Amino acid sequence: MLAIVALFMLQYFEIRLLVGSLSGSTLLGQLKLLDVFAFLEVSAAARGISLALLTAVLPVALLYLLLGRAFCGWVCPMDLLFSLVDKVRSPGTKPPRLPLKPQVGYWLAGGLLLTALLTSLPVFTNFFSHLTNLFRAIAGVVFMASDLPVEPAVIAWSLLALLALLLLQYFYPRLWCRVLCPVGKTYGLFNRASLLKLRFRQGDCEGCELCEQRCYMGVKLVRHLDQGKLRDPNCIYCGRCIEGCRHQANLIKMSFK
Ligand code: SF4
Ligand code: SF4
Repeated sequence: MLAIVALFMLQYFEIRLLVGSLSGSTLLGQLKLLDVFAFLEVSAAARGISLALLTAVLPVALLYLLLGRAFCGWVCPMDLLFSLVDKVRSPGTKPPRLPLKPQVGYWLAGGLLLTALLTSLPVFTNFFSHLTNLFRAIAGVVFMASDLPVEPAVIAWSLLALLALLLLQYFYPRLWCRVLCPVGKTYGLFNRASLLKLRFRQGDCEGCELCEQRCYMGVKLVRHLDQGKLRDPNCIYCGRCIEGCRHQANLIKMSFK
C-alpha cells in the first residue's frame, strides 16, 4: 500500500512512473489504468463504452479477477487511514452494530450509476470518491508547498470529504468499507470468481472464532468451514484471520488453487 502511494508521490518530483490517482492513472507513460467502478460510472455518464476506457479497465479487471478484493486490503490507502483512526478510539470500546445492511451498498452503487446516466456526470468519481479526494488533497498540499497555483475550494472540499469518512470510521468502524463504498463493493463481486481465495483445511476447528474476531470486515468464516473455501464479497484477503487461527489449528490458508 505504502509502496504504491510512494510510486504515485514520485510524480510530484517529476518522476513519472505512475501518474494520476487510484481512480485512473498511467503507468510508465503508456499503460492507462482505470478503477472498475470509475469505468462503470464514466461509461454511464457518457452513455457508451469507448475503446480507450475499455483498454484502461481491462488490465485492472484482470488483476482483480486474479486477486479478488485484495485491492481493499493491500492497495487502498483508506484501509491504512482507518486503522489509524482505530488507534485513536479508546481500547476495549465495543464497536456498535452496523446500522445498515450490506445490500444497501449495492443500491447506493446502482443509484450512483443511475445518477451518472441521468446527469451525464460521474458524480461519485469526480466529487465524492475517497480515491479522487485523497490524491487531490495530496496534490494540493504539494502544489501549495511548491508555490504552484491551486484551487483552495477544491482542496477544502477534498479535505472535508476525507474528514467525513474518518469521522464515520470513528463512530461506525468499517461501515464505509463493509457496506457503503462503491469501489469496494465492485471489487467484492470479483471474489465470486477470483483465483485467490481462502481455503479451509477440514478437521480440527474448535469453534473458538478467533479468526472471526480478527476480521474487521465482519466475514463469518466459521459458517463456511465445511464448504472448504470462502467466496465472501467482504473478504479483502488481508490474512488477519489466518494469523488468528495460527494460535489454534492453522486451518485457514490463502490459495490460488
Ligand atoms: S472498501 Fe473502499 S475505502 Fe474501504 S478499502 Fe475498499 S476501496 Fe478502500
Ligand atoms: S480477516 Fe480473513 S476473512 Fe476477514 S477480510 Fe481478512 S482475509 Fe478475509
